[in-house]
Amino acid sequence: MRRVYLDHNSTTPVDPRVAEAVRPYLAELFGNPSNLHSFGRECAEGLAGAREQVAGLIGAEPGEVYFTGSGSESDNWAVIGTVLRHQDRGRHIIASPVEHGAVLESVRYLCRRGFEATWLRVDEHGLVDPDEVRRAIRPDTILVTVMLANNEIGTLEPVAEIAAVCRERGVICHTDAVAAAGKTEINVAALGVDLLTISGHKLHAPKGVGALYIRDRVEIDPLIHGGHQERGMRAGTENVPGIVGLGKACELLAREWPDNAKRMRANRDRLEAGILARIPEVRRNGHPERRIPNTSHFSIAHVEGEALLLSLDLEGVALASGSACSAGTTGASPTLEAIGVPPLYRNSPLRFSLGPETTADDVDYTLDVLEAVVKRLRDISPTWRRA
Ligand SMILES: *Cc1c(COP(=O)(O)O)cnc(C)c1O
Repeated sequence: MRRVYLDHNSTTPVDPRVAEAVRPYLAELFGNPSNLHSFGRECAEGLAGAREQVAGLIGAEPGEVYFTGSGSESDNWAVIGTVLRHQDRGRHIIASPVEHGAVLESVRYLCRRGFEATWLRVDEHGLVDPDEVRRAIRPDTILVTVMLANNEIGTLEPVAEIAAVCRERGVICHTDAVAAAGKTEINVAALGVDLLTISGHKLHAPKGVGALYIRDRVEIDPLIHGGHQERGMRAGTENVPGIVGLGKACELLAREWPDNAKRMRANRDRLEAGILARIPEVRRNGHPERRIPNTSHFSIAHVEGEALLLSLDLEGVALASGSACSAGTTGASPTLEAIGVPPLYRNSPLRFSLGPETTADDVDYTLDVLEAVVKRLRDISPTWRRA
């Protein structure tokens, strides 16, 4: 059976060139980079190279890049490490309601321990208003965290404007760039953020590796204590193969993302045009223009989400309802709740996230399958009146 993978915002296939770069570090290059002997040194060189490659993708200095065990760890570190370090400033955090769970839950964790959060509003496209950030900042605000691109609906937030407001007021600004990295221009200087998160497996590197950009001289407490790895900021013997893979993926994307983006956008637009033309009573979510080029999110009225995903999977088409991390839970995701999807469109969220390897044929096959499956499910739906 034909299989079409349109769930790249959940995870991506490892690029074969990345796998090739990683392979020696799973075999003969097994040293501990903390060791001074040659076995250690050759691995330390691998780490140093990867740090430059990651820095290159985001316009940072290599010394501002810290490797972690995941995007989630980077988010936890950015939020909790910053707030713990700067408690003398106060107890206030500002966050958007459409953040990934790794940010949402880190903020909630702090709130259970006496910190206070202001949750920003978003408009119907999921956009945060920088003026609202300005109004929300108080003398005791420590941190503002707003993601660069939303992983469910793809909306690109005005992070540069938000960071400018933060800078004016001396507040630290973090952005989760996991869904944006490799799909849009990322330059930490242009963005003006203090902290930025990326994750390996969302950009064709292996799972279990992430990075946190920490602007020079921004102070943050470590979360993982022990050895002196990552300049004393993140203990634990480094995941050398994963880090080398993350570096290689970033090096490739620094060159290739514009072409990838063009291809993904063309296929994404073909998909959207097809859905809007062939399936009645659907609603497209996310900002129509301010979006990462690979993501498309629809709500399909008069079908049940779980049944739709399972039926598509039986035809080889892999899609998600939204965030992989809210999969298996009931109820709307925080993002969909925040943008206020009307009741008719709440039951069946459908996220298409394309990759650079997605073809126009994949899109056409998906459209055929989707049209047939929706028709079938609506025929047995009690709320669908056949015309
Ligand atoms: C996937 C994702 C994360 C978490 O990254 P992991 O490496 O899977 O822990 C964080 N933020 C966003 C926006 C994501 O899409």
